Amino acid sequence: MSTEPRYFLRCLQCDSTYAKGQVGYCCPICELDGALDVLYDYERIGRSFRQDVARREAFDMWRYRSILPISDDFRPALHTGGSPLYEMKHDGQGCILVKDDSRNPSGSLKDRASALAVALAAGMGADTIATASTGNAAAALACMSAISGMQCKIFAPANAPREKLAQMRTYGASVIAVEGGYDEAFEACYAACKEYGWYNRSTGINSFMSEGKKTVAFEICEQMQWRVPDRVYVPVGNGCIVGAVYKGFKELHQMGCTDRIPRIMGVQASGSDFMFRAWRAGAGPNGATAQPANTAAGSISVALPRDRIKALRAIEKSGGEFITVSDTEIFQAVTELARNCGVFAEAGAAAAYAGAKKCGAHGRSETSVVLVTGSGLKDIAGLLKSGVLADGAELLRQRLAA
Ligand SMILES: *Cc1c(COP(=O)(O)O)cnc(C)c1O
Ligand SMILES: [Zn+2]
Repeated sequence: MSTEPRYFLRCLQCDSTYAKGQVGYCCPICELDGALDVLYDYERIGRSFRQDVARREAFDMWRYRSILPISDDFRPALHTGGSPLYEMKHDGQGCILVKDDSRNPSGSLKDRASALAVALAAGMGADTIATASTGNAAAALACMSAISGMQCKIFAPANAPREKLAQMRTYGASVIAVEGGYDEAFEACYAACKEYGWYNRSTGINSFMSEGKKTVAFEICEQMQWRVPDRVYVPVGNGCIVGAVYKGFKELHQMGCTDRIPRIMGVQASGSDFMFRAWRAGAGPNGATAQPANTAAGSISVALPRDRIKALRAIEKSGGEFITVSDTEIFQAVTELARNCGVFAEAGAAAAYAGAKKCGAHGRSETSVVLVTGSGLKDIAGLLKSGVLADGAELLRQRLAA
């Protein structure tokens, strides 16, 4: 039995602090605007952090249990996290490392958060867990619920990619189709959880999801022999992952394991660029107007990001930048990652590599990490529709005709 972890919570909006167990998923004063930071005694944990990590044989996210909000006794029995970090071969002088988080149980980085959500729900004695999602978060939750014997309710937009919808139902989740996008699904899930007392995993209300996702930063650092890259490129939709990657590196620094924090580079699709515009205006997390999202990269297609406070903090505090890439650049990045590195990413995930290219990561004498957040098998129709494989198909036709 591991010891019960200790932590407290602080609201990012109003700075109120709360003891563990005193509040639910977000700040009771600010409600849905009140994302909480989960904070630990960094000095105490830092004293033995690396020894604690080394003591666990499995290379998975629970190696870092001394700085997670739930004991690993409740973890779902699937190998989550512990994904490979590859060096990409290219002619430039920059070192580009590709962190392949498509290699998770349900095929995306969301497994780290959903594994933690199911552990938290189990720790509270809940038997049903729900989420709103456009795909990967729900597929991940359905997967982690299945192995943990928990009921899983998904609120998903009716037009989510069929691969992801099929995945959720294969794992045995009940899928409730909602007319509209993530916002409508979020509202429906929120109301149902209130009425039935289900545990709510939705991004934008559950402040603990960053805690699962931050483990990817710990892994990158451990895989680099506890050194820190110069930049980390992260795709941004709701902004939860980018905020969590920053928090992971910040905590390593606070614990005295590293000497600095990398520049966090948030990459958005140009048709879904709220964070980029707010950051450029220098007007805070509400400093832009929400516009309908228009990108084929479904996982990062968000009009108004829910985790914008955490996302903006990640970029500003780390000295990083927000950048935008076009859908054409994104789909080119999908093929380049597959052909140069053997990693098949979905469009939303490949945006990070498109951003790295745009920022000149190949030529700069620096170490850049590109975070691949999800598998290309998740949205085949989107890939075929992009036209990026058209040349290949034409070539094949010519060869067969010859
Ligand atoms: C969810 C997701 C993202 C975006 O993460 P946010 O936390 O919403 O910013 C990027 N890529 C993939 C594959 C995802 O599933
Ligand atoms: Zn608050």
